[in-house]
Amino acid sequence: MTAPIYRTVDALRQEVRAWKRAGHTVGVVPTMGALHEGHLSLVDRAKTECDRVIVTIFVNPKQFNNPDDLAKYPRTEDSDAEKLAPFGVDAIFAPNPDEVYPNGFATKVSVSGLTDMLCGAHRPGHFDGVATVVTKLFLQTLADRAYFGEKDYQQLQIVKRMATDLNIPTDVVPCPTIREADGLALSSRNLRLSDAARRAAPALIKAMRTLANGLQQNQPIDQLTKAASETILSAGFDSIDYLELRDGAGLAPQTTATKTSRIFAAATIDNIRLIDNIPVFSD
Ligand code: AMP
Repeated sequence: MTAPIYRTVDALRQEVRAWKRAGHTVGVVPTMGALHEGHLSLVDRAKTECDRVIVTIFVNPKQFNNPDDLAKYPRTEDSDAEKLAPFGVDAIFAPNPDEVYPNGFATKVSVSGLTDMLCGAHRPGHFDGVATVVTKLFLQTLADRAYFGEKDYQQLQIVKRMATDLNIPTDVVPCPTIREADGLALSSRNLRLSDAARRAAPALIKAMRTLANGLQQNQPIDQLTKAASETILSAGFDSIDYLELRDGAGLAPQTTATKTSRIFAAATIDNIRLIDNIPVFSD
């Protein structure tokens, strides 16, 4: 049976309040829909750790800096609901944009520092849109725990910071990146890759893994990064936004790897921007 779909905050809150009165813990998995195994791994984890689980499906206009990207983002609510059915999810919250941002909406949540770099430097306003909608989703769902993928590692750090800074009593739970057999990180955007681009796309993670191996052997980062960039571009990517070594804890740039280092990359193929990140010392 598919889970009940709630369109308004009032209707969802009424249900959540009843759960809370019964002493149930509530988990939320925020998504933009077009669900794949990556999203479902978060749902599965939430179901094992929480009495009640809400999956939110909302393509958040405020986090798209490119209107074309927003227009083309896949919207597949019926099949999403079917994919969630076997997990016994308790509620799907799928509000319309007017419910989330009614006329007169004037508030923005902005996390400084962590949002200036990596994707933040290339997608102006993106993380303000993310922080604003996630703050709202935490307060709308009154969730005890919220599940986020390490696939969007910078987003995860920003959401953690926001919840801590605003004393929102929702624990942010990181979940590992789920990949295709060829290494490509699952992403709703993969649906838009042409066959040729889909075949070329794993070059990104392969180059990142080679870079990680070189760093483990103390090879110089400049040479490693140059070689990795060349591999990615010659595989068919059109451009690389960034390919960088940073500390996983605070996202500070690094030139040598430490235990907590991660490699972060964003590159575009066929006008589709793919992102990925891996730890240097274990994957
Ligand atoms: P999205 O629908 O792309 O906004 O993603 C919703 C949530 O699913 C975010 O917390 C993402 O980090 C997570 N997610 C997306 N892709 C993956 C993946 N391949 N593995 C694990 N989590 C993922």
